[in-house]
Amino acid sequence: MELSEEIRNKYQPVIGLEIHAQMATKSKAYSNDKNEYGATPNTNVSAITLGHPGTLPRMNKKTIEYAIKMGIACESDIAGKQHFARKNYFYPDLPKGYQITQDTTPICTGGHVIIKDEHGHEKKIGLTRIHMEEDAGKSIHDIDPFNTLIDLNRAGVPLIEVVSEPEIRSSQEAYNYVTEIRKLVRYLDICDGNMEEGSLRCDANISVMLKGAKEFGVRVEVKNMNSMRNVQRAIEYEIERHILAIENGETLYQETRNFDALKGVTTAMRSKEAANDYRFFPEPDLQPINVTKEHVDDLRRTMPPLPNALFKKYTGELQLSEYDAQLLTDQKDMALYFEDLISHTKNYKAAANWLMGDVKSYLNTNAVLISDFPIHPERLAGLIQLIDEGKISNNLASQKVFPAMLEAEGTAEAIAQANDWIQDSDEDSIRGVIKEVFEENPSEYERFKSGEKKLMGFLMGQVMKKSKGKADPKSASKLMNEMINA
Ligand code: ADP
Ligand code: MG
Repeated sequence: MELSEEIRNKYQPVIGLEIHAQMATKSKAYSNDKNEYGATPNTNVSAITLGHPGTLPRMNKKTIEYAIKMGIACESDIAGKQHFARKNYFYPDLPKGYQITQDTTPICTGGHVIIKDEHGHEKKIGLTRIHMEEDAGKSIHDIDPFNTLIDLNRAGVPLIEVVSEPEIRSSQEAYNYVTEIRKLVRYLDICDGNMEEGSLRCDANISVMLKGAKEFGVRVEVKNMNSMRNVQRAIEYEIERHILAIENGETLYQETRNFDALKGVTTAMRSKEAANDYRFFPEPDLQPINVTKEHVDDLRRTMPPLPNALFKKYTGELQLSEYDAQLLTDQKDMALYFEDLISHTKNYKAAANWLMGDVKSYLNTNAVLISDFPIHPERLAGLIQLIDEGKISNNLASQKVFPAMLEAEGTAEAIAQANDWIQDSDEDSIRGVIKEVFEENPSEYERFKSGEKKLMGFLMGQVMKKSKGKADPKSASKLMNEMINA
Protein backbone atom coordinates (compact mmCIF):
# COMPACT_ATOMS: atom_id res chain seq x y z
CA MET A 1 0.00 0.00 0.00
CA GLU A 2 1.29 3.45 -0.95
CA LEU A 3 1.02 6.09 1.70
CA SER A 4 -1.18 8.89 0.37
CA GLU A 5 -0.76 12.49 1.46
CA GLU A 6 -4.26 12.33 2.88
CA ILE A 7 -3.57 9.36 5.17
CA ARG A 8 -0.22 10.78 6.22
CA ASN A 9 -1.92 14.00 7.23
CA LYS A 10 -4.13 12.14 9.69
CA TYR A 11 -1.11 11.36 11.84
CA GLN A 12 1.19 13.34 14.07
CA PRO A 13 4.78 12.07 14.36
CA VAL A 14 6.36 12.35 17.84
CA ILE A 15 10.13 12.28 18.15
CA GLY A 16 12.60 12.42 21.04
CA LEU A 17 16.35 12.35 20.45
CA GLU A 18 19.21 11.06 22.57
CA ILE A 19 22.51 12.58 21.48
CA HIS A 20 25.90 11.35 22.63
CA ALA A 21 28.73 13.83 22.29
CA GLN A 22 32.35 12.84 22.89
CA MET A 23 34.03 15.48 24.99
CA ALA A 24 37.15 16.94 23.37
CA THR A 25 39.26 16.57 26.51
CA LYS A 26 42.96 15.72 26.28
CA SER A 27 42.61 12.61 28.41
CA LYS A 28 39.87 10.11 29.09
CA ALA A 29 37.06 10.41 31.63
CA TYR A 30 38.58 8.40 34.49
CA SER A 31 42.23 7.86 33.52
CA ASN A 32 45.05 9.84 31.93
CA ASP A 33 45.05 7.78 28.74
CA LYS A 34 44.98 10.03 25.71
CA ASN A 35 41.62 10.82 24.19
CA GLU A 36 42.43 10.90 20.48
CA TYR A 37 40.62 9.78 17.38
CA GLY A 38 42.40 7.65 14.81
CA ALA A 39 45.37 6.50 16.93
CA THR A 40 46.85 3.05 16.26
CA PRO A 41 44.34 0.58 17.77
CA ASN A 42 44.85 -0.37 21.42
CA THR A 43 47.63 2.12 22.14
CA ASN A 44 45.75 4.42 24.55
CA VAL A 45 44.89 1.63 26.94
CA SER A 46 46.31 1.70 30.47
CA ALA A 47 45.35 -0.81 33.15
CA ILE A 48 42.48 1.48 34.16
CA THR A 49 40.98 1.50 30.66
CA LEU A 50 41.43 -2.25 30.52
CA GLY A 51 39.61 -2.60 33.84
CA HIS A 52 42.33 -4.64 35.52
CA PRO A 53 41.56 -5.71 39.07
CA GLY A 54 42.76 -3.26 41.68
CA THR A 55 42.70 -0.21 39.41
CA LEU A 56 40.64 2.79 40.39
CA PRO A 57 39.06 5.49 38.22
CA ARG A 58 39.82 9.14 38.85
CA MET A 59 37.48 11.82 37.60
CA ASN A 60 38.67 14.16 34.84
CA LYS A 61 37.54 17.58 36.03
CA LYS A 62 37.35 18.95 32.48
CA THR A 63 34.54 16.52 31.65
CA ILE A 64 32.45 17.99 34.43
CA GLU A 65 33.20 21.53 33.27
CA TYR A 66 32.30 20.73 29.67
CA ALA A 67 29.00 19.16 30.73
CA ILE A 68 28.21 22.21 32.86
CA LYS A 69 28.93 24.53 29.93
CA MET A 70 26.45 22.62 27.79
CA GLY A 71 23.94 22.87 30.63
CA ILE A 72 24.45 26.62 30.91
CA ALA A 73 24.05 27.02 27.14
CA CYS A 74 20.74 25.12 27.31
CA GLU A 75 19.55 26.94 30.43
CA SER A 76 19.34 23.66 32.34
CA ASP A 77 19.42 23.36 36.12
CA ILE A 78 22.91 22.32 37.19
CA ALA A 79 22.87 19.82 40.04
CA GLY A 80 24.85 20.75 43.14
CA LYS A 81 25.49 17.29 44.44
CA GLN A 82 25.56 14.26 42.20
CA HIS A 83 27.07 10.83 41.94
CA PHE A 84 27.99 8.28 39.35
CA ALA A 85 26.36 4.92 38.78
CA ARG A 86 27.39 1.60 37.34
CA LYS A 87 25.46 0.31 34.37
CA ASN A 88 26.25 -3.39 34.14
CA TYR A 89 26.27 -5.39 30.95
CA PHE A 90 28.53 -7.84 29.23
CA TYR A 91 30.06 -7.00 25.91
CA PRO A 92 33.57 -7.66 24.54
CA ASP A 93 34.25 -3.95 24.00
CA LEU A 94 33.44 -3.15 27.63
CA PRO A 95 36.43 -4.53 29.57
CA LYS A 96 35.19 -3.59 33.06
CA GLY A 97 31.83 -5.27 32.50
CA TYR A 98 30.10 -2.02 33.42
CA GLN A 99 29.92 1.54 32.20
CA ILE A 100 30.32 4.43 34.63
CA THR A 101 27.40 6.75 33.96
CA GLN A 102 24.90 8.89 35.85
CA ASP A 103 21.50 7.45 36.59
CA THR A 104 19.41 9.13 39.26
CA THR A 105 21.47 12.34 39.56
CA PRO A 106 22.28 13.70 36.09
CA ILE A 107 24.49 16.77 36.11
CA CYS A 108 21.86 18.86 34.24
CA THR A 109 18.08 18.65 34.22
CA GLY A 110 15.56 20.60 32.16
CA GLY A 111 16.47 23.41 29.84
CA HIS A 112 15.87 23.62 26.11
CA VAL A 113 17.38 23.95 22.67
CA ILE A 114 15.98 26.60 20.34
CA ILE A 115 15.43 25.38 16.79
CA LYS A 116 13.58 26.45 13.66
CA ASP A 117 10.38 24.57 12.85
CA GLU A 118 9.21 23.65 9.32
CA HIS A 119 8.07 27.21 8.69
CA GLY A 120 11.27 28.78 9.94
CA HIS A 121 9.68 29.88 13.22
CA GLU A 122 11.49 29.59 16.50
CA LYS A 123 10.60 26.57 18.61
CA LYS A 124 11.93 25.45 21.98
CA ILE A 125 12.62 21.75 22.38
CA GLY A 126 12.69 20.83 26.06
CA LEU A 127 15.51 18.75 27.47
CA THR A 128 14.90 15.99 29.98
CA ARG A 129 18.48 15.76 31.14
CA ILE A 130 22.16 15.88 30.27
CA HIS A 131 24.39 13.35 31.98
CA MET A 132 28.03 12.31 31.88
CA GLU A 133 29.25 8.83 31.04
CA GLU A 134 32.07 6.98 29.35
CA ASP A 135 32.24 5.51 25.88
CA ALA A 136 32.79 1.81 25.24
CA GLY A 137 35.50 0.40 22.97
CA LYS A 138 34.83 -0.34 19.35
CA SER A 139 34.02 -3.72 17.83
CA ILE A 140 35.11 -3.86 14.22
CA HIS A 141 33.28 -6.40 12.09
CA ASP A 142 34.35 -5.48 8.59
CA ILE A 143 38.15 -5.84 8.47
CA ASP A 144 38.77 -9.51 9.24
CA PRO A 145 36.43 -11.91 7.43
CA PHE A 146 36.42 -14.43 10.29
CA ASN A 147 36.87 -12.45 13.49
CA THR A 148 35.55 -9.38 15.20
CA LEU A 149 38.40 -7.03 16.10
CA ILE A 150 38.36 -4.90 19.22
CA ASP A 151 39.89 -1.44 19.58
CA LEU A 152 39.79 -0.22 23.17
CA ASN A 153 41.16 3.27 22.47
CA ARG A 154 37.63 4.60 22.68
CA ALA A 155 36.86 2.84 25.98
CA GLY A 156 36.66 5.47 28.71
CA VAL A 157 36.37 8.48 26.38
CA PRO A 158 34.10 11.01 28.13
CA LEU A 159 30.61 11.53 26.76
CA ILE A 160 27.66 13.66 27.57
CA GLU A 161 24.25 12.36 26.66
CA VAL A 162 21.63 14.99 25.87
CA VAL A 163 18.09 13.59 26.12
CA SER A 164 15.25 15.60 24.63
CA GLU A 165 11.61 15.55 25.61
CA PRO A 166 9.34 13.99 22.96
CA GLU A 167 8.62 17.46 21.53
CA ILE A 168 10.06 17.13 18.04
CA ARG A 169 7.31 16.81 15.45
CA SER A 170 8.93 16.05 12.08
CA SER A 171 12.11 14.70 10.54
CA GLN A 172 12.98 18.24 9.47
CA GLU A 173 12.72 19.48 13.06
CA ALA A 174 14.90 16.56 14.14
CA TYR A 175 17.48 17.56 11.54
CA ASN A 176 17.38 21.15 12.74
CA TYR A 177 17.70 20.02 16.36
CA VAL A 178 20.83 17.95 15.70
CA THR A 179 22.26 20.84 13.67
CA GLU A 180 21.67 23.17 16.61
CA ILE A 181 23.26 20.81 19.14
CA ARG A 182 26.27 20.39 16.88
CA LYS A 183 26.56 24.15 16.52
CA LEU A 184 26.39 24.54 20.31
CA VAL A 185 29.07 21.97 21.16
CA ARG A 186 31.32 23.52 18.53
CA TYR A 187 30.77 27.06 19.85
CA LEU A 188 31.53 25.80 23.34
CA ASP A 189 34.62 23.93 22.10
CA ILE A 190 33.61 20.83 24.02
CA CYS A 191 33.20 18.40 21.09
CA ASP A 192 34.27 18.55 17.45
CA GLY A 193 30.75 17.54 16.37
CA ASN A 194 32.01 15.19 13.68
CA MET A 195 29.23 12.68 13.04
CA GLU A 196 31.16 10.66 10.47
CA GLU A 197 33.89 9.95 13.02
CA GLY A 198 31.31 9.22 15.68
CA SER A 199 32.10 12.12 18.00
CA LEU A 200 28.45 13.09 17.79
CA ARG A 201 25.91 10.26 17.66
CA CYS A 202 22.18 10.29 17.66
CA ASP A 203 19.52 7.75 18.62
CA ALA A 204 16.00 8.62 17.54
CA ASN A 205 12.81 7.61 19.36
CA ILE A 206 9.86 7.72 17.04
CA SER A 207 6.13 7.14 17.32
CA VAL A 208 3.02 8.38 15.57
CA MET A 209 -0.48 9.15 16.84
CA LEU A 210 -3.68 10.40 15.29
CA LYS A 211 -3.70 14.18 15.23
CA GLY A 212 -5.40 15.49 18.33
CA ALA A 213 -4.84 12.24 20.26
CA LYS A 214 -3.95 12.55 23.92
CA GLU A 215 -1.68 9.55 24.18
CA PHE A 216 1.54 8.87 22.33
CA GLY A 217 1.82 5.79 20.15
CA VAL A 218 4.22 2.88 20.57
CA ARG A 219 7.76 4.06 20.05
CA VAL A 220 10.83 2.51 18.52
CA GLU A 221 14.41 3.60 19.03
CA VAL A 222 16.64 3.76 15.94
CA LYS A 223 20.39 3.58 16.34
CA ASN A 224 23.46 3.92 14.14
CA MET A 225 22.85 7.03 12.13
CA ASN A 226 26.17 8.62 11.28
CA SER A 227 25.07 11.77 9.50
CA MET A 228 22.33 14.32 9.92
CA ARG A 229 20.88 13.37 6.59
CA ASN A 230 20.62 9.76 7.79
CA VAL A 231 18.87 10.82 10.99
CA GLN A 232 16.29 12.49 8.81
CA ARG A 233 16.00 9.53 6.41
CA ALA A 234 15.63 6.98 9.21
CA ILE A 235 12.92 9.04 10.93
CA GLU A 236 11.04 9.53 7.66
CA TYR A 237 11.21 5.79 7.03
CA GLU A 238 9.92 4.95 10.50
CA ILE A 239 7.05 7.45 10.33
CA GLU A 240 5.80 5.83 7.12
CA ARG A 241 6.32 2.31 8.45
CA HIS A 242 4.32 3.12 11.60
CA ILE A 243 1.44 4.74 9.72
CA LEU A 244 1.22 1.88 7.23
CA ALA A 245 1.24 -0.68 10.05
CA ILE A 246 -1.53 1.14 11.91
CA GLU A 247 -3.60 1.58 8.75
CA ASN A 248 -3.20 -2.13 8.01
CA GLY A 249 -4.30 -3.08 11.50
CA GLU A 250 -0.90 -4.49 12.45
CA THR A 251 0.50 -4.27 15.98
CA LEU A 252 3.63 -2.19 16.59
CA TYR A 253 6.11 -3.25 19.24
CA GLN A 254 8.45 -1.20 21.32
CA GLU A 255 11.85 -2.20 20.02
CA THR A 256 15.31 -1.05 19.07
CA ARG A 257 16.04 -0.84 15.35
CA ASN A 258 19.10 -0.40 13.23
CA PHE A 259 19.35 1.98 10.25
CA ASP A 260 20.94 0.63 7.07
CA ALA A 261 22.13 3.72 5.22
CA LEU A 262 22.78 1.87 1.96
CA LYS A 263 19.32 0.38 1.67
CA GLY A 264 17.63 3.33 3.42
CA VAL A 265 15.64 1.01 5.72
CA THR A 266 15.55 0.10 9.40
CA THR A 267 15.61 -3.46 10.72
CA ALA A 268 14.68 -4.86 14.12
CA MET A 269 17.61 -5.34 16.53
CA ARG A 270 15.99 -6.28 19.81
CA SER A 271 12.58 -6.08 21.42
CA LYS A 272 11.82 -4.33 24.70
CA GLU A 273 11.32 -7.73 26.35
CA ALA A 274 14.85 -8.70 25.41
CA ALA A 275 16.24 -5.39 26.71
CA ASN A 276 19.09 -5.54 29.18
CA ASP A 277 18.55 -5.23 32.87
CA TYR A 278 21.43 -2.97 33.72
CA ARG A 279 21.25 -3.35 37.53
CA PHE A 280 22.27 0.26 38.15
CA PHE A 281 23.89 0.99 41.48
CA PRO A 282 26.00 3.86 42.83
CA GLU A 283 29.62 3.69 41.68
CA PRO A 284 31.63 2.98 44.84
CA ASP A 285 35.00 3.92 43.34
CA LEU A 286 34.23 7.57 42.59
CA GLN A 287 33.37 10.23 45.14
CA PRO A 288 30.16 12.16 44.69
CA ILE A 289 30.73 15.51 42.97
CA ASN A 290 29.83 18.83 44.47
CA VAL A 291 29.34 21.64 41.98
CA THR A 292 29.28 25.06 43.61
CA LYS A 293 27.39 28.06 42.29
CA GLU A 294 30.70 29.97 42.16
CA HIS A 295 32.20 27.35 39.89
CA VAL A 296 29.20 27.53 37.55
CA ASP A 297 29.42 31.34 37.49
CA ASP A 298 33.14 31.17 36.74
CA LEU A 299 32.46 28.85 33.83
CA ARG A 300 29.67 31.08 32.57
CA ARG A 301 32.13 33.94 32.36
CA THR A 302 34.47 31.92 30.10
CA MET A 303 31.71 31.10 27.61
CA PRO A 304 31.70 32.61 24.12
CA PRO A 305 28.60 34.40 22.80
CA LEU A 306 26.16 31.73 21.67
CA PRO A 307 24.67 31.43 18.19
CA ASN A 308 21.10 32.19 19.21
CA ALA A 309 21.98 35.34 21.08
CA LEU A 310 24.11 36.50 18.15
CA PHE A 311 21.31 35.71 15.68
CA LYS A 312 18.93 37.86 17.76
CA LYS A 313 21.43 40.69 17.92
CA TYR A 314 22.09 40.63 14.15
CA THR A 315 18.45 40.54 13.11
CA GLY A 316 17.44 43.00 15.85
CA GLU A 317 19.92 45.69 16.78
CA LEU A 318 21.99 45.40 13.58
CA GLN A 319 18.93 45.03 11.31
CA LEU A 320 20.48 42.37 9.11
CA SER A 321 18.31 39.89 7.23
CA GLU A 322 17.63 36.48 8.79
CA TYR A 323 19.52 34.97 5.89
CA ASP A 324 22.66 36.99 6.63
CA ALA A 325 22.36 36.39 10.37
CA GLN A 326 22.05 32.66 9.80
CA LEU A 327 25.16 32.50 7.62
CA LEU A 328 27.14 34.66 10.01
CA THR A 329 26.31 32.52 13.05
CA ASP A 330 26.59 29.06 11.47
CA GLN A 331 30.24 28.84 12.42
CA LYS A 332 31.72 30.23 15.58
CA ASP A 333 34.94 31.53 13.98
CA MET A 334 32.98 33.38 11.32
CA ALA A 335 30.77 34.93 14.01
CA LEU A 336 33.79 35.95 16.08
CA TYR A 337 35.41 37.56 13.05
CA PHE A 338 32.20 39.46 12.38
CA GLU A 339 31.98 40.54 16.02
CA ASP A 340 35.50 41.91 15.75
CA LEU A 341 34.72 43.58 12.42
CA ILE A 342 31.65 45.42 13.74
CA SER A 343 33.64 46.74 16.65
CA HIS A 344 35.53 48.74 13.99
CA THR A 345 32.71 49.79 11.67
CA LYS A 346 29.10 50.77 12.09
CA ASN A 347 28.22 49.87 8.51
CA TYR A 348 26.88 46.43 9.50
CA LYS A 349 25.28 45.65 6.16
CA ALA A 350 28.52 46.32 4.30
CA ALA A 351 30.43 44.29 6.89
CA ALA A 352 28.08 41.33 6.37
CA ASN A 353 28.26 41.69 2.59
CA TRP A 354 32.04 41.69 2.54
CA LEU A 355 32.23 38.68 4.79
CA MET A 356 29.59 36.66 2.94
CA GLY A 357 30.86 37.80 -0.47
CA ASP A 358 34.52 38.45 -1.24
CA VAL A 359 35.91 37.02 1.99
CA LYS A 360 33.94 33.79 1.83
CA SER A 361 34.74 33.22 -1.81
CA TYR A 362 38.44 33.74 -1.07
CA LEU A 363 38.22 31.21 1.79
CA ASN A 364 36.40 28.68 -0.39
CA THR A 365 38.65 29.04 -3.41
CA ASN A 366 41.81 28.75 -1.37
CA ALA A 367 40.55 26.27 1.24
CA VAL A 368 41.53 28.67 4.03
CA LEU A 369 39.79 28.92 7.41
CA ILE A 370 38.52 32.28 8.58
CA SER A 371 40.87 31.96 11.56
CA ASP A 372 43.77 32.02 9.05
CA PHE A 373 42.35 34.78 6.87
CA PRO A 374 45.18 37.25 6.18
CA ILE A 375 43.14 40.46 6.40
CA HIS A 376 42.38 41.27 10.01
CA PRO A 377 38.97 42.73 10.88
CA GLU A 378 40.37 46.19 11.59
CA ARG A 379 41.92 46.40 8.09
CA LEU A 380 38.72 45.20 6.42
CA ALA A 381 36.81 47.85 8.37
CA GLY A 382 39.27 50.37 6.93
CA LEU A 383 38.35 49.27 3.43
CA ILE A 384 34.65 49.69 4.19
CA GLN A 385 35.34 53.17 5.51
CA LEU A 386 37.24 54.11 2.36
CA ILE A 387 34.19 53.19 0.27
CA ASP A 388 31.81 54.98 2.61
CA GLU A 389 33.90 58.15 2.37
CA GLY A 390 33.60 58.00 -1.41
CA LYS A 391 37.34 57.60 -1.84
CA ILE A 392 37.05 54.39 -3.85
CA SER A 393 34.14 52.71 -5.59
CA ASN A 394 32.78 49.35 -4.50
CA ASN A 395 34.00 47.88 -7.76
CA LEU A 396 37.52 49.13 -7.37
CA ALA A 397 37.56 47.99 -3.75
CA SER A 398 36.58 44.49 -4.73
CA GLN A 399 38.70 44.19 -7.86
CA LYS A 400 41.88 45.99 -6.86
CA VAL A 401 42.18 47.00 -3.21
CA PHE A 402 40.91 43.79 -1.61
CA PRO A 403 43.23 41.51 -3.64
CA ALA A 404 46.13 43.87 -2.93
CA MET A 405 45.36 43.73 0.80
CA LEU A 406 45.62 39.94 0.66
CA GLU A 407 49.13 40.27 -0.71
CA ALA A 408 50.53 43.19 1.25
CA GLU A 409 50.46 44.67 4.73
CA GLY A 410 49.13 48.13 5.41
CA THR A 411 45.80 49.88 5.65
CA ALA A 412 43.37 49.95 2.75
CA GLU A 413 43.92 53.67 2.45
CA ALA A 414 47.72 53.37 2.30
CA ILE A 415 47.47 50.65 -0.34
CA ALA A 416 44.96 52.62 -2.41
CA GLN A 417 47.11 55.71 -2.16
CA ALA A 418 50.33 53.92 -3.07
CA ASN A 419 48.64 52.50 -6.18
CA ASP A 420 47.03 55.81 -7.07
CA TRP A 421 43.52 54.35 -6.75
CA ILE A 422 41.93 57.06 -4.65
CA GLN A 423 38.87 58.34 -6.44
CA ASP A 424 38.86 61.78 -7.91
CA SER A 425 35.87 63.75 -6.72
CA ASP A 426 37.48 67.04 -7.46
CA GLU A 427 34.93 68.53 -9.86
CA ASP A 428 37.36 70.62 -11.85
CA SER A 429 39.58 67.73 -12.72
CA ILE A 430 36.61 65.50 -13.62
CA ARG A 431 35.23 68.31 -15.77
CA GLY A 432 38.56 68.39 -17.59
CA VAL A 433 38.38 64.67 -18.33
CA ILE A 434 34.79 64.96 -19.58
CA LYS A 435 35.72 67.80 -21.84
CA GLU A 436 38.49 65.76 -23.42
CA VAL A 437 36.10 62.81 -23.91
CA PHE A 438 33.54 65.08 -25.60
CA GLU A 439 36.22 66.44 -27.91
CA GLU A 440 37.54 63.04 -28.85
CA ASN A 441 34.04 61.67 -29.59
CA PRO A 442 32.27 64.51 -31.37
CA SER A 443 29.44 62.55 -33.00
CA GLU A 444 28.54 60.71 -29.78
CA TYR A 445 28.67 64.03 -28.00
CA GLU A 446 26.25 65.61 -30.49
CA ARG A 447 23.81 62.70 -30.27
CA PHE A 448 23.96 62.71 -26.47
CA LYS A 449 23.38 66.44 -26.40
CA SER A 450 20.35 66.14 -28.68
CA GLY A 451 18.71 63.74 -26.27
CA GLU A 452 20.02 60.22 -26.99
CA LYS A 453 20.32 59.31 -23.32
CA LYS A 454 21.63 55.81 -23.93
CA LEU A 455 24.97 57.30 -25.00
CA MET A 456 25.56 58.22 -21.36
CA GLY A 457 26.87 54.71 -20.74
CA PHE A 458 29.42 54.92 -23.55
CA LEU A 459 30.64 58.36 -22.56
CA MET A 460 30.88 57.42 -18.86
CA GLY A 461 32.91 54.40 -19.90
CA GLN A 462 35.35 56.68 -21.70
CA VAL A 463 35.58 58.97 -18.68
CA MET A 464 36.32 56.03 -16.41
CA LYS A 465 38.91 54.70 -18.81
CA LYS A 466 40.64 58.04 -19.14
CA SER A 467 40.66 58.58 -15.36
CA LYS A 468 41.79 54.97 -14.77
CA GLY A 469 38.65 54.24 -12.76
CA LYS A 470 39.29 57.07 -10.36
CA ALA A 471 36.59 59.54 -11.35
CA ASP A 472 33.75 59.35 -8.84
CA PRO A 473 30.90 58.02 -11.02
CA LYS A 474 28.22 60.03 -9.21
CA SER A 475 29.93 63.36 -9.71
CA ALA A 476 30.91 62.43 -13.26
CA SER A 477 27.34 61.77 -14.39
CA LYS A 478 26.05 64.87 -12.67
CA LEU A 479 28.73 67.02 -14.30
CA MET A 480 28.18 65.47 -17.71
CA ASN A 481 24.48 66.40 -17.62
CA GLU A 482 25.33 69.90 -16.45
CA MET A 483 27.87 70.35 -19.24
CA ILE A 484 25.55 69.44 -22.13
CA ASN A 485 22.87 71.72 -20.77
CA ALA A 486 25.23 74.61 -20.21
P1 ADP B 1 14.71 4.81 27.64
O1 ADP B 1 15.46 4.95 28.90
O2 ADP B 1 14.07 3.49 27.44
O3 ADP B 1 15.52 5.22 26.44
P2 ADP B 1 13.31 7.32 28.12
O4 ADP B 1 12.02 7.52 28.83
O5 ADP B 1 14.54 7.81 28.76
O6 ADP B 1 13.44 5.80 27.72
O7 ADP B 1 13.14 8.03 26.71
C1 ADP B 1 14.14 8.11 25.80
C2 ADP B 1 13.73 9.05 24.67
O8 ADP B 1 12.51 8.65 24.09
C3 ADP B 1 13.55 10.49 25.10
O9 ADP B 1 14.25 11.30 24.19
C4 ADP B 1 12.05 10.72 24.97
O10 ADP B 1 11.78 12.04 24.58
C5 ADP B 1 11.67 9.76 23.88
N1 ADP B 1 10.28 9.28 23.93
C6 ADP B 1 9.59 8.82 24.99
N2 ADP B 1 8.37 8.43 24.62
C7 ADP B 1 8.27 8.63 23.28
C8 ADP B 1 7.24 8.39 22.30
N3 ADP B 1 6.07 7.87 22.60
N4 ADP B 1 7.53 8.73 21.02
C9 ADP B 1 8.70 9.24 20.67
N5 ADP B 1 9.68 9.48 21.54
C10 ADP B 1 9.49 9.17 22.82
MG1 MG C 1 16.99 5.17 25.15
